[in-house]
Amino acid sequence: MKIKIISILFITILGSSASAQVGIRLFANQSPESAVVSVTEGKYQISAFNGENLFISKGEPVLITKYKSKLAVKTRNEKGFLCDSVLISGKTGDDSFSLRINGNNPVRQYYSGDLKCFPDMENIVLINICDVEKYLAGVVKAEGGSGKNIEYFKTQAVIARTYLYKYFDKHTADRYNVCDNTHCQAFNGSSTDTIINKAALETKGQVILSQDSTLIISAFHSNCGGETASSEDVWLTGQPYLKSKIDPYCTASRNSVWKKSISRNEWLEFLKKSGYSGNINDSSIFNFDQKTRQVNYKIGLFTIPLRIMRADLNLRSAFFTVISEGDSVVFKGRGYGHGVGLCQEGAMAMAAKGFTYAQIIDFYYTGVLITDIKNAVILNGNPPTPQKGLSNPPIPLRQD
Ligand SMILES: [Zn+2]
Ligand SMILES: [Zn+2]
Repeated sequence: MKIKIISILFITILGSSASAQVGIRLFANQSPESAVVSVTEGKYQISAFNGENLFISKGEPVLITKYKSKLAVKTRNEKGFLCDSVLISGKTGDDSFSLRINGNNPVRQYYSGDLKCFPDMENIVLINICDVEKYLAGVVKAEGGSGKNIEYFKTQAVIARTYLYKYFDKHTADRYNVCDNTHCQAFNGSSTDTIINKAALETKGQVILSQDSTLIISAFHSNCGGETASSEDVWLTGQPYLKSKIDPYCTASRNSVWKKSISRNEWLEFLKKSGYSGNINDSSIFNFDQKTRQVNYKIGLFTIPLRIMRADLNLRSAFFTVISEGDSVVFKGRGYGHGVGLCQEGAMAMAAKGFTYAQIIDFYYTGVLITDIKNAVILNGNPPTPQKGLSNPPIPLRQD
């Protein structure tokens, strides 16, 4: 294969686009060395610096591989070429593509919008530029759990949108806005669920603000076990809207209770490692009750923060009681997750009972306001600018 060397110029329409867009790094926690892009809907263009345009249509795969410090791009019908970066942009306004990366992940995922690629030291960086509401529907699909009700999905969409705008610049230095794993928000591609897509569109632009009109930290978890946790008890920083409250809605749900046994020796070992030097025959070390959420495990004057215990012993939650049973120490727990903010299973149950998304959000986040993103006060003085962070990688203005 004769490889022609071309530099690619990005043609960006982001600035003039009516709806907000977001740049998401795909397969961010993997290390793609190659990718196959295949058009599933519409028509795509690869725009080249020298004015050469390649059009690719439905079903025609494009192979992108890292080649030394550059990208090699090859379509089935055209000669391949080397470039510093490539933009594959949708032309019909309703374009989508599938993406498959090399190596251990044979999963094919589906996306809408454009795809930007450039090499970094080891791998290729794949950035999807897509409509914010479509991205949010994908996040709700990935993070929403087993909910069915549209009011629940609207709740998740507003939470995901709040998070997105609060951390819009999280990866600006890396030339995109967010990554697709839980470091930012999980995103496995477009949602084809019509209820989820409707939920994102019907709440378009809506975010959650605290009393000072800033975007809240929209924390959520699977199940609080009947009482949510205050953020200061889990993350050491308090927020007026992340306060512990009794949740009567989640206690019959799937993740409301759990149980774990460890051996007596493991437990004593753990206590010693944590600094306990008292009497190991003292029965009080096996007896601990949380009728309501506590912050510390207490044995006399000795304490261990429950959040540390949860992490060290790999427990589903920090909301548990401890009892001794023969040679075992048994943890009887409630809930799943850190317990701060919105309880997903409680929110699902509320939606099933007929509560609206606004009522659900109001229940889990104390004293907040749901409003359009344009009303948010951004503390560093910058308005949330969806185009920010999508600046193009440096393009050499000469042909190699
Ligand atoms: Zn991230
Ligand atoms: Zn709950």
